[in-house]
Amino acid sequence: MTQHIDTSLVHIGSGAFDPETKTAAVSLPAIRTSTVRFKSLDALENIQAQRAQGERVVTYGISGLETHRALEEVFNTLEGGNYCVLSSSGLASIHLLFMSLLKSGDHALVSDGVYGPMRILDQDLLKGLGIEVHYFSPNHDDLASLIRPNTRLVYIESPSSLLFEMLDVPALARITKQHNIPLAIDNTWGSSHIYKPLTLGADISLVAGTKYIAGHSDLLMGALVTHRDDLAAHMHRTQYAVGNAVSADDVWLALRGVRTMAVRMPHHANSALTVCEFLASHPHVARIYHPAWPQDTGFALWQRDCSGSNGMLSVEFKCTAQALKPVVNALTLFGIGFSWGGFESLVQWVNPSALKPHRAWQGQDHGVLRLHIGLEFIDDLIADLKQALSLLD
Ligand SMILES: *Cc1c(COP(=O)(O)O)cnc(C)c1O
Repeated sequence: MTQHIDTSLVHIGSGAFDPETKTAAVSLPAIRTSTVRFKSLDALENIQAQRAQGERVVTYGISGLETHRALEEVFNTLEGGNYCVLSSSGLASIHLLFMSLLKSGDHALVSDGVYGPMRILDQDLLKGLGIEVHYFSPNHDDLASLIRPNTRLVYIESPSSLLFEMLDVPALARITKQHNIPLAIDNTWGSSHIYKPLTLGADISLVAGTKYIAGHSDLLMGALVTHRDDLAAHMHRTQYAVGNAVSADDVWLALRGVRTMAVRMPHHANSALTVCEFLASHPHVARIYHPAWPQDTGFALWQRDCSGSNGMLSVEFKCTAQALKPVVNALTLFGIGFSWGGFESLVQWVNPSALKPHRAWQGQDHGVLRLHIGLEFIDDLIADLKQALSLLD
């Protein structure tokens, strides 16, 4: 019988029993070491031979030790992958993805609602390396007609950053498979828990573990998960080549975060829906962006493809972004800050220039606030929003 994901979250990567003492620590220790010792040269050569065969044996700390293997197992189990490559941040995973699969002269198609700093990576690094990135809107453009002979990667994010636009991953995967191009998806929103892109046809799932995996805003980490050994081989080699390592302590904290995901995620999701309900009846609100909200344009896709939701939502107001600044300053429980997925509520004043590249954005001069609904008691959060929004009256 296949286990429910919430059961897996508690048991995966928990470590083997010591063959002598027949005991095992409930919480796997953080194996902090930069290097390993080999019992003999024979042992070293043996391990090097295994490594050449693509096995995840350890010759040096950059590939990680048991703590890292446990977290890799967590990601593989949750995503339905066979290989996991950890990175020092979510953005480092995006960098690793592009460096692993593309070279000078190659072309990549990237969805226009992708995580903002992707464009910095593109402008400041990929362009100079001769890698061309073309942005497209999967819900408006015909992907097949955009594919060129040198297209080597299609990279999307669903639901998108800022507006949480759901994409039809199975439909996109059918096209990329026909053209034999890898489809990679930023699955940070789903965080390997409520959305499973590999089971929907994607080849690589990328997760910023910084967000809901960590759950406590206390670490930075990324993961690339795939079931394809050819792609995994490229990603593992490049991860080693660029020295993209993760500390055992951060891996340990991520493992600890995973153990409580089953209770955190529904709490965030339920509170976010209550906030949507409150905002939907508010006279200054024009539109709510949250795929689990029945009025959201992505609701049908969310129902079909996701098993849950989270605490992220954006709100479009009938006033300008400028007029929202006093509202943001008046909030007391929502910290003004980037990132999300921790225990605490956050508000981001969305710069109108950040929405411009998203074809899904139709709000013209309306202002947008992005909220992360944390684990605070919901009535307190609603009361805080109510008092701050009264400034718009
Ligand atoms: C935060 C985030 C990232 C990057 O993660 P970091 O660990 O902060 O580098 C990537 N994608 C999405 C969708 C994110 O929200």
